[in-house]
Amino acid sequence: MPEDDQVVDGARNPMVRDPEVRDPAVNGERIMRICNACRYCEGYCAVFPAMERRLQFTRSDLNYLANLCHDCGECYYACQYSPPHEFDVNVPRSFAEIRAQTYRQYAWPALLAAMFDRNGLAVSLVLALILVLAMVAATLVLGRDLVAAAPDPAGDFYRFMPHGVMASLFGGVSLFVALALVMGFVRFWRDMGESLAEFARPDALWSAMKDVLRLEYLDGKGAGCTYPREERSQARRWFHHLTFYGFALCFAATVAGTIYHYGFGWKAPYGYLSLPVVLGTLGGIGLLIGPAGLLRLRLRSDPATGHAGQSGMDLAFIVLLFATSLTGLALLAFRDTSLCGLLLVIHLGVVMALFLTLPYGKYVHGIYRSAALVRYALEKSRPTPNVGFDSLG
Ligand code: SF4
Ligand code: SF4
Repeated sequence: MPEDDQVVDGARNPMVRDPEVRDPAVNGERIMRICNACRYCEGYCAVFPAMERRLQFTRSDLNYLANLCHDCGECYYACQYSPPHEFDVNVPRSFAEIRAQTYRQYAWPALLAAMFDRNGLAVSLVLALILVLAMVAATLVLGRDLVAAAPDPAGDFYRFMPHGVMASLFGGVSLFVALALVMGFVRFWRDMGESLAEFARPDALWSAMKDVLRLEYLDGKGAGCTYPREERSQARRWFHHLTFYGFALCFAATVAGTIYHYGFGWKAPYGYLSLPVVLGTLGGIGLLIGPAGLLRLRLRSDPATGHAGQSGMDLAFIVLLFATSLTGLALLAFRDTSLCGLLLVIHLGVVMALFLTLPYGKYVHGIYRSAALVRYALEKSRPTPNVGFDSLG
């Protein structure tokens, strides 16, 4: 890379991919130059209008554009230069490769990101198993018997792990995860060359929030998006909504439980019609259906547009979300039986594994994509740069 961070095209013919070049950014820059001359796809998503504000593409630009992409595949199916054309234009795959790099580049601490780099699914599942065993060990150290304890009609799970221990464990892990996510966001945002003050601009935040909450770009103007295959469908959007709002409801349930405990002094377990349980149950159902649907779509997705290198951590995120919900609902259903202790440690171990993997996998795309949408809104509010475009000749 030259000093100005300008990506240099490594191909002998600037339009044709050089098979010797492995750097995803070099290929991404080549493709963006072709797209910038073509501009056929400019109405598909935010990527193309953002691209058109540029003539040259630095690594930072490519990281921004790659995270603006939501991997729908529409530009691939529409492209006259996609394989087998010699230009080999495949925007979704190229951006998936660049996104995977950004997950590593901005991750904090980098050492943990490297752990999940290969075999992300297997490493995450082993982590979950280790954490379940650690929870079992913790209850044994505390002198609690998970299996032989008599069923409690009230379903009190603090008899297996005191509230203080549980709160300390998850409080510590949550603080670490929150710090790691904030660090990743700050690194991403700074790399874009934007100031943190700009991020707080209400108009840009509001515009991005509307896109995120409505999944505007997955709607395809009412026709749905071309995922998992070329036929249009709303399936991904709805499964995504169920996952997102399910997660939000589970978070709200945790906040409500915390307020009950510390604000009102009301101790868990709470009744089936209490706010924390209702929110948690609704969220849990969303987190069962949403991830299951996304997993099904993922397994049917077009291998031509995907990037195999990242699929392990993507799958790990979906599987851990599903497992968190399944074990949580099972704990709720069987909390007044002798299975309570066992289900509790399994649930706690799975939740902790989910938390610890959040900053190193698919979840960060949600953060980077939201940040990229804020930047997109900021750019739209600025004067249009005077950029022409090259001709493909
Ligand atoms: S048709 Fe192909 S080259 Fe043209 S903008 Fe779309 S993806 Fe790029
Ligand atoms: S794959 Fe979809 S979101 Fe990504 S650049 Fe192409 S049209 Fe846009």
